Amino acid sequence: METSKPQTQNTAGQPEAPASNGQALIQMEAVRKVFYTDEVETHALAGIHLVIKKGEYIAIAGPSGCGKSTLLSIMGLLDTPTDGKYILNGEPVETLNLSDRARIRNREVGFIFQSFNLIGDLNVYENVELPLTYRGMPAAERKKRVLESLERVGMSHRTKHYPSQLSGGQQQRVAVARALGGSPSILLADEPTGNLDSKNGEAVMDLLHALHGEGATICMVTHDPRYARHADREVHLFDGRVVEESQANSEGII
Ligand code: ADP
Ligand code: MG
Repeated sequence: METSKPQTQNTAGQPEAPASNGQALIQMEAVRKVFYTDEVETHALAGIHLVIKKGEYIAIAGPSGCGKSTLLSIMGLLDTPTDGKYILNGEPVETLNLSDRARIRNREVGFIFQSFNLIGDLNVYENVELPLTYRGMPAAERKKRVLESLERVGMSHRTKHYPSQLSGGQQQRVAVARALGGSPSILLADEPTGNLDSKNGEAVMDLLHALHGEGATICMVTHDPRYARHADREVHLFDGRVVEESQANSEGII
């Protein structure tokens, strides 16, 4: 069933909404995540309160093991909180069954991972098309979206290549195209430059920056303070809690 959507269009690909319009896209209250393994309890998230508005670009920083990837997985409906409240685009998601979660994830969320996660035996075109196929989108619409997304990341000339025939930077641009193809409400990027050299890393960051300029809502985990400064706001995690939030300033500061 189609849920009734607010008037605002999905932002990726919509050039008319560069700034946050004040509507909360992500609302987390007291979100906790405990992993139980071999009699050990790991408190990966220890009560997260976080609001991300439509059109915002948030950077999440913090030491290894502080819960950044866990937070992103929960945000992107890949995992569920142990307790707490999570509302995504107006919809409380704790109570959804598996298939509804998958459906909402496919529509609302675009993931970009450190290790690209492209499928090796699909070519560039097919990789970008796959989530749209899962969604049941008609072929003509899929083709239009795939070609547009590849155009936006500057990879239209490589549609027939396989991931192993591309550089890391090119693979990550294809992964960004895949994330964009479905016009998600939010792009979630987990250390997207972690496997790239600085030149390719910068190119991917410039791409995210441009997408944000066109209205995309982005939540990105990064270790690198240079890249965190591209964001509107930096959220620092430590031991599963938000310990500091700062307004970042993207331009004009060296
Ligand atoms: P970060 O991304 O900030 O490095 P993670 O979110 O990956 O941190 O992990 C946070 C904590 O949760 C770590 O102590 C990690 O070992 C633990 N953890 C993450 N995923 C699992 C899992 N599937 N099972 C058990 N422990 C996990
Ligand atoms: Mg991580």
